Amino acid sequence: MRISLKWLFLKALVGSLTFAMCCCSITGEPQGEKGKDNPQTKKTPSAPSESAPVSEERGLWLNRSELFAPREDLLNFLDELKEAHFTTLYINTYFRGSVIYPDSRYLPRFSGVSEPDVLEWLLPEIKKRGMLSLAWLEYGFYAFHTPDATKTEDKGVFLNKHPELAAVASDGTPYLHNDKWGDFYSLCPANPESHKLLGDLFVEILERYPFDGINLDRIRFPNENFCFCPYCKKHFREDTGIELQVFEKETKEYSEFIRWRKKQLDLFMETYVPKFRKARPGVVITLASLPPEMMESHGQGWDNWMEKGLIDAAMPMLYGEANFENRIQKIKQFPHWERIFCGLDAHGLPPEKVLEQIRYLRENGAKGCAIWYSGQIGDDLPGLKAGPFSNPANSPLVK
Ligand SMILES: [Zn+2]
Repeated sequence: MRISLKWLFLKALVGSLTFAMCCCSITGEPQGEKGKDNPQTKKTPSAPSESAPVSEERGLWLNRSELFAPREDLLNFLDELKEAHFTTLYINTYFRGSVIYPDSRYLPRFSGVSEPDVLEWLLPEIKKRGMLSLAWLEYGFYAFHTPDATKTEDKGVFLNKHPELAAVASDGTPYLHNDKWGDFYSLCPANPESHKLLGDLFVEILERYPFDGINLDRIRFPNENFCFCPYCKKHFREDTGIELQVFEKETKEYSEFIRWRKKQLDLFMETYVPKFRKARPGVVITLASLPPEMMESHGQGWDNWMEKGLIDAAMPMLYGEANFENRIQKIKQFPHWERIFCGLDAHGLPPEKVLEQIRYLRENGAKGCAIWYSGQIGDDLPGLKAGPFSNPANSPLVK
């Protein structure tokens, strides 16, 4: 256990980079903005002592930085998570235009993998420890990342083959730029050809490995300034009679733009979720979803997907402290609050703050949470084990 915790500590630097990239791609803001959420003064730790429900989701995003550790370290880490009564691991399987497993029909294997096929032995080891394995499909419509798109022609396999599928900003830029973290290419989230590329890939993953489910991510537009590609211009005009341009907010045209984009992502879910369920009967479909205030600008109507049964559960990423309680009160009104497991930020928040948020969720009747992330959970484990995770739990995702 000591070795594993030390190893986790050493991984913190790699992990913090990954987190910041994830965060900035969600918020579109530099990580520094998030720093305002973190108080410099820590309150006295006080783990809640309430007894755990029998059925509760206690999920953890298992990031690539930990997946590439030596096997023995990873197995020790699984033991620690079992001891801390986690129920579910969301395993980083698809990211940066690559997959973690060999011989995909669609994408290359990530160059940084350390074993021939980590999933082959990892999933049985997780099952042996009584936890669920969900394939975390991190990049979603994001097809590729590069530090500087002006210095390479490479856009990743999908967009190198199909450059016409790139999502385009209103000024014509075919990627999302972030000053701190570089450039992110996305497939156009509206184009059915993009849907097929992603859908086929996710079916492959489900057919090949015995995951209990999937954790979709980035099923959304990069931000409100996308997508102005030729497909979107043509079809928005045909569907609405309006020429696609940057619309003033609170106009009829802007409302049409919001509605149209949302519908295109609804179509992806309506078309492909049945195929995912067919590829692996009984599979659980979950989503790492946006906080409520970002849903409209990114075209992600996940409350509707919950209502229609297109997803079995959602993990809205409520990282940081800002508006945490207000966000919870809003999300509580969504369909199936009992299957909404809020994503908490063990990277940016001190352990006692994470415990406070879990306590608040429980006071509001939540049936679990998901924690970001494996590389930063080491200092949280003692408090979780002594507090809210002290009793064993089963994931409500298991029927
Ligand atoms: Zn488009």
